[in-house]
Amino acid sequence: MPLKMRAIPCLRDNYAYLLHDPETGRTAVVDVPDVAPVHDMLAQTGWALSDILITHHHDDHIAGVMRLREDTGAAIWGARADAHRLPPLEHSLAEGDTVAIGSETGHVLEVPGHTVGHIAFHFPQSRLAFTADSLMVCGCGRLFEGTPAQMWDSLCKLMALPDDTQICSGHDYSAANTAFAESVDPDNAELHARIAQMAQDRAAGRPMAVASLALEKATNPFLRAGMPYMKTTHGLEDAPDVDVFAHLRAQKDRF
Ligand code: ZN
Ligand code: FE
Repeated sequence: MPLKMRAIPCLRDNYAYLLHDPETGRTAVVDVPDVAPVHDMLAQTGWALSDILITHHHDDHIAGVMRLREDTGAAIWGARADAHRLPPLEHSLAEGDTVAIGSETGHVLEVPGHTVGHIAFHFPQSRLAFTADSLMVCGCGRLFEGTPAQMWDSLCKLMALPDDTQICSGHDYSAANTAFAESVDPDNAELHARIAQMAQDRAAGRPMAVASLALEKATNPFLRAGMPYMKTTHGLEDAPDVDVFAHLRAQKDRF
């Protein structure tokens, strides 16, 4: 049975996610920007928290971790590489490690770029990946600590997941990200269709931080840096993919 998932809007544009295994009752939260909205969703679902999964050390992803741990006794999982700047970890993780949420096993992917210790969690049976500030809806995280090459490698790793994987990211930056995407990939018909659909989704109050990998590959300009037409559009026809990615990321920083 696949895990049940709930997206929880927190703070201004952050998202936390609950993951629940109906067979065993195990329930994990991915990132804790704020405690109250997570408690509200736990109360609404009746699920009891057992695990806290951390993607990276930024305050808008871990601010509520210690309080939630005190309230629930949940175990904390996070990157070994960042253990010195995360809340105390019960389980420290590196590439290839696994996280068991009841009957389902999640895989840890190291996805540096936004921060050097950023990790993602992939649950293949449930077709979910929690990518926080690495791969985001129609965008990717800003490079605060890592290099363009690191982020490009991370995005390539995520692009290799199955196309029907739901990418659950850390923020709703959909408005700014699609505006930028349109500016650098103006003739992409699927992008235009997506922007129209997003206007409806936003009006209906649907969470805007989750999308399929297939849709991201079709419309996210950062995932299209290796395509010949993108290179031509930006006058970089002979450049390696990573240079095109770096160019797009630098343009976004100034957008
Ligand atoms: Zn961050
Ligand atoms: Fe963030």
